[in-house]
Amino acid sequence: MQKTLVILKPSAIQRGLVGEVISRFEKKGLQIVGMKMISLTDEVLEEHYAHLKEKPFFQRIKESMKMSPVIVVALKGIDAVEVVRKMSGTTNGREAQPGTIRGDYSMSVQENIVHASDSPATAEIELERFFSPTELFDYPQLMHVHIYANDEY
Ligand code: UDP
Ligand code: MG
Repeated sequence: MQKTLVILKPSAIQRGLVGEVISRFEKKGLQIVGMKMISLTDEVLEEHYAHLKEKPFFQRIKESMKMSPVIVVALKGIDAVEVVRKMSGTTNGREAQPGTIRGDYSMSVQENIVHASDSPATAEIELERFFSPTELFDYPQLMHVHIYANDEY
């Protein structure tokens, strides 16, 4: 089983898409194992988006992520990282496939509703960045037998 991090960005919060987006992940069969609302700081954003630090638009990305609180969600499932990335769609909402979250709800590269970890290694680092161990929960997924075959995990 893998865990991955999703951030519902201010674009999701302000547009009233929180329920809609979380509902997609729930219906897919991913298990919510952590969730909270937080305010992002420059310090955390500079760590989280370190790969964009030298970009001319880094300041506007930081401003955008601080426009409202965000909701961080930890999701668990087989191949959860890749599944959630696929469900999120490519970065540019205008180009993202219809049927994906960004493809259905975003017209922008920046205002693209969700963040999703891009690899298992990144997911581990990002979950640690946003959740303390006591904020991540280990509990049985009662519908498990209807979500996976017993030789899939
Ligand atoms: N971003 C942007 N302009 C760009 C590239 C990225 O505004 O040219 C923003 C966008 O919100 C994106 C985030 O920075 O989701 C992180 O960029 P990354 O390349 O990691 O894309 P992602 O993994 O979110 O698809
Ligand atoms: Mg990324």
